Amino acid sequence: MAKINEAKYIWMSGKMVPWNEAKVHVLTHALHYGSAVFEGIRAYRTKRGTAVFRLKEHMKRLLDSAKIYRMESPFTLEELMNATVELIKINELDECYIRPLLYRGYFNLGVNPMECPVEVSIAAWKWGKYLGPEALEQGVDVMISSWNRMAPNTFPAMAKTTANYANAQLIKMEAVVYGFSEGIALNAYGTISEGSGENIFVVKDGVIYTPNLESTILPGITRLTVIEIAKSLGFEVKECFIPREMLYIADEIFFTGTAAEVTPIRSVDKIVIGEGKIGPVTKRIQQEFFRIIEEADERYEHYFTWVK
Ligand code: PMP
Repeated sequence: MAKINEAKYIWMSGKMVPWNEAKVHVLTHALHYGSAVFEGIRAYRTKRGTAVFRLKEHMKRLLDSAKIYRMESPFTLEELMNATVELIKINELDECYIRPLLYRGYFNLGVNPMECPVEVSIAAWKWGKYLGPEALEQGVDVMISSWNRMAPNTFPAMAKTTANYANAQLIKMEAVVYGFSEGIALNAYGTISEGSGENIFVVKDGVIYTPNLESTILPGITRLTVIEIAKSLGFEVKECFIPREMLYIADEIFFTGTAAEVTPIRSVDKIVIGEGKIGPVTKRIQQEFFRIIEEADERYEHYFTWVK
């Protein structure tokens, strides 16, 4: 993956700071103890201009993640949303990836983080297709990770904390070293949870399945969008526990995520899924997902926060 495509400014707790000056102290609490929560958001260039996709839902999830970790945000939902729009404007980006981070700053280094100030940064930059340019059309080859996702009541999966991405990195590195694009982790029950940075959907006999919240998953906003789209297209969607072997005999499997969008999976553990290419249900949903965004479909107006 290429180096970050640097933009001009990063928003730091209310100020637009030049990209190369957006720095923190080395004794920042979050750097030592994973005491930060974050988001990954995309802004798209649509036919009606640049819009941030489901910004409100992302910022709500950010504040929910903070609440779980007893972090009080110095900025409200509206302030964070406005800051994001201002940042995209000042950087003159017409499409970008956006990374808000709420973190415990520099004060002391006890494990108790509560005296450290809560700082906020938002960065935005141009970023292409996460799993490679061909992935959306051809699909990706993945493996079941030898690493499990966190057990319930250890690291809360519903909080998007940086700490959870220690586990995600183990999953991702193993997959890449073994020659796969991505790893899928099982949860403590031994059923399917998610990829290192994506939710997963399985199609079998015309029904669409996805792991439920009890399966140790991040409640993905693309997952929610895809459930809404699939239902609007007349598909039945079931949120439930999914056994590992159901992947091997599935007709189709795909990932969803802000970075991965809707990416087909063509093999799991070198077992070919369906025809080994994007299947008809995945294709229909992927097309509808990109159509809604490209056209900025007015029936989904609530998905878009306008930049210009
Ligand atoms: N699961 C994990 C572990 C993730 O990191 C992500 C990416 N944020 C997702 C799922 C997908 O979530 P979203 O659709 O909100 O980007």
